[in-house]
Amino acid sequence: MAIVLIGSPGSGKGTQAKLLTESLGVPHVSTGDMLRDRTRGGGDGVVAATMQAGALVSDRVVDEMVVERLSRPDAARGFVLDGYPRTQVQAEHLTAWLDGRGVREVAIHLAVDYNIIIARLTGRRECPRCGTLYNVVFHPPKSDELCDLDGERLAIRDDDRELVIRQRLDAYERQTRPVLDFLRSAGRRVSREIW
Ligand SMILES: [Zn+2]
Repeated sequence: MAIVLIGSPGSGKGTQAKLLTESLGVPHVSTGDMLRDRTRGGGDGVVAATMQAGALVSDRVVDEMVVERLSRPDAARGFVLDGYPRTQVQAEHLTAWLDGRGVREVAIHLAVDYNIIIARLTGRRECPRCGTLYNVVFHPPKSDELCDLDGERLAIRDDDRELVIRQRLDAYERQTRPVLDFLRSAGRRVSREIW
């Protein structure tokens, strides 16, 4: 059960990944979560600055991080990859690694209209204290801009600001969409989901 979710920022990869991992009993491997854990508390300055600029972290850093994660015992029965591969170089690295282990993956392309994505992402809010996520349009807190659980004032994550979102969508168009063509032309399985 090696599933690779490919979709732009805000396409709902995280939500779909959770549903899949819960029903399949395999780990959710999210490069976004791993990178955020790594930079929390000023841990990795170079990675943090790259993410804040809306740019993509280098292939080498992400390749190593993902392979290390997929090599752990809990991923032996399968996994749902979310946020990787983002470039053709990463896709080549991943498919070679999977082939080396005799694993056949399936890629699922989540296609969503960019206008919907921008509305969804600019509405996101996070509680700085407990990390709970809200959306002022789709999942608002009971009290305006305050966390339901602890009353903390909600914040916009740096990577959810509109300019940064547009840069992330642009980076996706240039670097990640070609991954789908690469996978198809390499004879890998790619399915398409739209909602
Ligand atoms: Zn909270």
